[in-house]
Amino acid sequence: MSSTPTNEHPIIVGIDLGTTNSLVAWCDESGPCILEDENGGNLPSVVRYDEQGNVAAIGKPARDHAVEFPTTTLFSVKRLMGRGIADVQNELNYLPYAVVAGEHNTARVQVTEDKVVSPQEVSAIILRELKAKAEKALGKTVEKAVVTVPAYFDDAQRQATRDAGRIAGLDVVRIVNEPTAAALAYGLGVGEVDTPSETPNKTGSDPVSLNVNAKPLAQPNESGTVSLNTKFNTEACTTGSGADPNLTGELDDDLDHANSTVAVFDLGGGTFDVSILNLQQTEQGIVDQVVATSGDTHLGGDDVDRMIVELIQKEITVQLGQEIDFPPSTRQAFRSFAEATKIRLSNSEYAQLEIDLGEGRSYQRSITRDELEEMMTPWVDRAIACCKEALKKADLPPEDIDRVIMVGGSTRIPLVRKKVGELFGTVPYTALNPDEVVALGAAVQGSILAGINRDMLLLDVIPLSLGIETLGGAVAKLVMSNTTIPAKATEMFTTHAEGQTNVKIHILQGERELVKDCRSLGEFDLTGIPPMPAGLPKIEVTFLVDANGVLNVSAVEKRSEKAARVQIIPNHGLTREEVDRMETESMTHAREDMTAHQLIDLRNQARLDMRAIERQINKVGDELDDAYRVEIAQKVAIVQKFVDTENPDANEFHVALDAMDKATIRLAELAIKQTLAEEQ
Ligand code: AMP
Repeated sequence: MSSTPTNEHPIIVGIDLGTTNSLVAWCDESGPCILEDENGGNLPSVVRYDEQGNVAAIGKPARDHAVEFPTTTLFSVKRLMGRGIADVQNELNYLPYAVVAGEHNTARVQVTEDKVVSPQEVSAIILRELKAKAEKALGKTVEKAVVTVPAYFDDAQRQATRDAGRIAGLDVVRIVNEPTAAALAYGLGVGEVDTPSETPNKTGSDPVSLNVNAKPLAQPNESGTVSLNTKFNTEACTTGSGADPNLTGELDDDLDHANSTVAVFDLGGGTFDVSILNLQQTEQGIVDQVVATSGDTHLGGDDVDRMIVELIQKEITVQLGQEIDFPPSTRQAFRSFAEATKIRLSNSEYAQLEIDLGEGRSYQRSITRDELEEMMTPWVDRAIACCKEALKKADLPPEDIDRVIMVGGSTRIPLVRKKVGELFGTVPYTALNPDEVVALGAAVQGSILAGINRDMLLLDVIPLSLGIETLGGAVAKLVMSNTTIPAKATEMFTTHAEGQTNVKIHILQGERELVKDCRSLGEFDLTGIPPMPAGLPKIEVTFLVDANGVLNVSAVEKRSEKAARVQIIPNHGLTREEVDRMETESMTHAREDMTAHQLIDLRNQARLDMRAIERQINKVGDELDDAYRVEIAQKVAIVQKFVDTENPDANEFHVALDAMDKATIRLAELAIKQTLAEEQ
């Protein structure tokens, strides 16, 4: 949490009241953030009643014991909100608890013989928990909220959501469509009404071509083989949106803020929705028109888990040579295991499965991302077919969609991102956590209603410079502060170690020269570079900041075409005061920063040169006379001393390096001659 609310503005939180999970967020001048308590931010939308009909557990404890209490653990009540019993007949097969007809034939839940509850009451319990979470995080009473609902919710479903808020003691000041909230979280439809300026940016829009003095990147990350084992903690699997080398398509970077057509692709655990919106900025604020929706109420990541479970069960049966009736607890364990495997394969190319079958037997197999993608293709295609249907309903070709926003945990799957990118011909927005983006957007709407102003950081310039870490902890700036957006910059980098196959791209923001004094925005690894001598790989790094201030960083090793990319929103969590402070600090420290950067560059250069000299001596050392050999050794020793000294004089260091380089020209010539002779 960046700050606590002041008394200046009323507190209006944003709530994503989800089918599976719910979240509460708040937005101040520095942008939206999820509110957390000791149990984190996420609250499973699950409530368990006891035999007396009292609430026994809420959230995670209720969800974790759902199998033991199938008829009194209520989940997915959102599917019943504001619906008549006749509307929900096709849901009943999926819900183990008793759904009955209440007043006016509305859908209710029979939790005990004497107790019937409405979906609104159950949702109110969830909302009350979120309210308490928010109050704890903010240290203030929370009475007002913006709550999100699916775009297709009808009036009765929206009213039921308002009622749930009222029962929970919350004034629902606005109901916002979930896809609109996602768009708001990305700053779409917020800010200036005028279009971005056409002024060329300082770094130029043409990519900078090969930089012969390519700087070596930071130390590689040693990401070895990844394997998954039942004994591992499955929770520990990374779930961040991460780098995605599989994205295709170019970013269209001249979007009109004031009027845009946006597709929101929301693929969660059990449901899929796609919405096409037209967002218009008016004097009164954002107006969203839902142009078309489509989806499948039973399509989600759970299906993929099921595919993996079926594969495992089938193979175990074959291995043991007999049909096995797996008990529910084993099936549940398989499900968790399958989900962990799926998540692992979103981040790695390969996972190792290992299941202890008892009596000294075990099931072992490796699974690659390619294999999973083959299994998943018909499943992803179902979602793509819904997108095509929505486009047809909207009477729009895919190229008329300005932006695609990804929502829901299953949009972390690379194949999903790839296929969505291909359909719409654009890189989808994935910078924000897809599980949080709706709540964040609801909070943005709340802040607009509360009169909190973030416009200053949503202007059409980049407030602080953007760059990446290079060897030795220096920052190479690619986009300078005050550059007009959209902006693009490309620079060439290289490796510093022999045979280096991975490089880390660490993205930084700030005006200072060293990594330690800048703000870290994120990082990703470019992997699979073929082993080459240090300095030979050509790693082209491109920064593209689009009209909404979303930064896309991509890295391509030009010889092998290996690529990776990540998307970030640089201005999140940044206030005007922080920008000002960082600017002032950069001025105060300008001289010492320049010297520090210069020393890092000198050290890097010295190490490279000394390594080259060593190689040359190994090659042609026999041909050198003693006096020349001694001269080289002396010059190298002087430079080495500068490298080892903590704070050497930069000018003297420069002179020594120059002297060493000049003294070794003859050596280099002899080495080249020798190489040429060898090649003939
Ligand atoms: P949601 O309903 O939005 O919370 O999404 C939950 C679904 O997203 C579940 O099926 C999760 O298994 C899935 N999910 C979460 N993270 C990942 C990931 N990194 N790769 C694939 N699926 C994921």
